[in-house]
Formats: sequence, structure tokens, C-alpha cells
Amino acid sequence: MKTGFYYRRFHFFSQNILHTAHCTQQSQCTHAHPLLEAQNLAATAMTSLRLVSSNMLLIGATITAAVSLSTWLWVSTATRPICKRPSFLADDSDSDNHDGECPLPESLKRELEKERRRQAKIPLLAMKKPMYDNILMVDPQGTLLCTISKKKARWYVNKELGVWTDLEETKLQLLFEPSHRSNERHKNSKNSEKGDVDEFFNKSIKENVCVVCGHDQYHMRHYVVPYTCRSLFPAKYKMHMAHDVVILCPDCHLDCKRMATHRMKYLEQTHRKDLATAIPTIVDRQLHKVKSCATALLRHRHKLPAEKIYDYENLLRNHFQLNLHEVLTKGILKKAAELETSQPNPVYVPASEVIVAAMCQDEAGIESFVKGWRMHFLETMEPQYLPKGWSVNSSVDCQSAECKFTTKC
Ligand SMILES: [Zn+2]
Repeated sequence: MKTGFYYRRFHFFSQNILHTAHCTQQSQCTHAHPLLEAQNLAATAMTSLRLVSSNMLLIGATITAAVSLSTWLWVSTATRPICKRPSFLADDSDSDNHDGECPLPESLKRELEKERRRQAKIPLLAMKKPMYDNILMVDPQGTLLCTISKKKARWYVNKELGVWTDLEETKLQLLFEPSHRSNERHKNSKNSEKGDVDEFFNKSIKENVCVVCGHDQYHMRHYVVPYTCRSLFPAKYKMHMAHDVVILCPDCHLDCKRMATHRMKYLEQTHRKDLATAIPTIVDRQLHKVKSCATALLRHRHKLPAEKIYDYENLLRNHFQLNLHEVLTKGILKKAAELETSQPNPVYVPASEVIVAAMCQDEAGIESFVKGWRMHFLETMEPQYLPKGWSVNSSVDCQSAECKFTTKC
């Protein structure tokens, strides 16, 4: 199920309900809220019904008319967009105005600010050039071997291992007989089907669009197997793995990241035996309290009540072993505010290391782990625009998955 998508919809719907409740309390809000409007319309219809009920001759016609009117009003109101959802998250909306009178709650203002910051970062985080150049590589006889990047194609040309066959530089012909083809390893074996899958993927023209929704702008790389895990694999499992790096748009990337984080947490909980190894830094709570009190006195003394100032100063005097008559100078407060309150946990083990150590002990374990993440990606994101040949069952090591025609490639 596309959980992330529904999560976002549910989130905004619930924010709208909260905002409706908030505006109701404010009483002066003029926003259109379908549920409230429908209630008002139904109440008006019922009042009309009571007024005419004394006239027995008209009662049948009145009931029919009232029911029809209420139904029509309910349907026409309920099918309108709910509070124009992203009205308060729209690009140019002003959180302070929000159509006029009713100020937004602080929680929604924070959401709005968070969304604005995310939108502002998108052009900076997006890939600066297309992921796929789709240069066709052919053998000396003209048979298609695979598609490669322009950078790799130029490497062959510069090393005089290949030549361009067209002026537009879209096709490269090798000048030597390739010693390894992508499906050779599996030929005449039980895995011949896997070799065909790899070959199909390697030869396919790949579109530069979000593989989930087809969006064609602001693309980001997504590692189907989390990078922190893949980086711990032996070299042959983490180089040249184009299959498990896909294109996502910023919204799909956000959803996908959330789903991957959930799964990582689940796997960590399953495999981490010693909880003491889970915390990266150890915080000294007493020192942290001293630091907070000093910071509060330095920055907000004028806003603090006298009792708080007394308590904070007392805590600081105890820490620095000063008596009541000694003045807490600005220098002492600054020293306290700069205290180092945390230190690295010497037994900390990152989640990815715990997971990889438990699940990827041999080649079969690594294969199962990689395929598990591919399956998770398919199930949670339901991608509709994956490159042709992309498959859960593709090879997981680069020696068989990639086109490698020279040892330097
Ligand atoms: Zn997308």
C-alpha cells in the first residue's frame, strides 16, 4: 500500500479538522468548513420543516422538498475541497493573514515554516544533470551490449577502445571483442533467467523521471538498499549498482525516506541485543541542567520570575561551590553556558552495522537482504515508472549485474 501518500493525506486532513475546531473556538473565523456548513444547512432545513408542519395539507410536499434540499446541499458541500487543504501550506499563502481574521495556531505555523524550508532546499538538493545519458554501446559486429553514461563512453573513446558511430555521440562501438557480457555468467545454469533479466535492464533505455509518479523535475537519487548498509558490503556488492539507485521527485523521496526509516528501526529492534550500544552520545544530565540555567540567565533573565532566578543561581553556586555572598559574574555564567555536557558512547554501534552483521553473514544473506529492500520499495511506493527490466530478482553483485568489458571499466 502507498502508505506514505495516505499518511500525508491523513495528516493534512487531521490538520484541517484541528483548524476547524480552533476556528470554531475563535468564533470570528470566516473560512468555509464543510462539516460546519453542512450542520448549519441541515439545521435550517429542519427549522423550515417545523414551521410548515402545522399545515397538514402541505406536510407531504414539505418533507419531500426538505429532504431533497438537504441531500443536495450536503452533497454539493461535502464534495467541495476540504478547506482548500494546502491553503495554509500553499506556496504564497501568508500564515498571519490566512484569508483575514483568524490567526493560525502555533503548531500549524511551524508546519508551514517547515514546509517552506523544505521547498526552498529542493533546487539545491536536486540532481544538476540527468541520471541516464542512455549512450548505446555495441560490439564490433554492431550488437547492442548495454546503455552507459556519456562519461563512461568518453573514457572508452579517450583510451581508443571505442569510437562514436554518429555525430550526435549517441552510439559507441567497441573496437575489441568484449570478454564478458552481462548474462554470460548465468548461461547454461539454473540462473539463466536471472541473466536474461540483467541483460534486459542493461540494454533498456531509461527515462529520467521519478520512478514512482513520473514527475520530470528536481530529481533526487534514492538508494533502494540504504547507503549506510550497502557501504558495509564487500566491494563487489557496492560498486556500479545502477539497478538499485533510482530517481525520485522530492515528495516521493520524502515518503520513501520515511518508509525506509521505519523499516530500519524495525530491523534494528529485531537484531540489537544490547540496548547500551544504541545511544551515540552519553549526556551528563546534571551538567546539562547547569548549562541550561546559565544560558537562561544570560539570555532571558529579564523575563524570568524572581523565584526561578533564585533557583537557577542556587544551582550554579552549588556547581561552582560558591557561597551566597559571592556574585555570579557574567564570566561564570558564560563558563557554565559553554560546558560540554555530552561525550561519545564508547560502546556505540550504528544501527546499520548491527543489521548488516546479523543479516548479511554470507552471500546468501546479502542476496536475501538486498531483495528484501527491493520488495519493500515496491510494496510501499508502488512505483509506476521503473526502468524496463528492473526486477526484485536481478543480480545483487556488480560482477554479474553490470556490463564489464575491461578490467578498468
Ligand atoms: Zn514522484
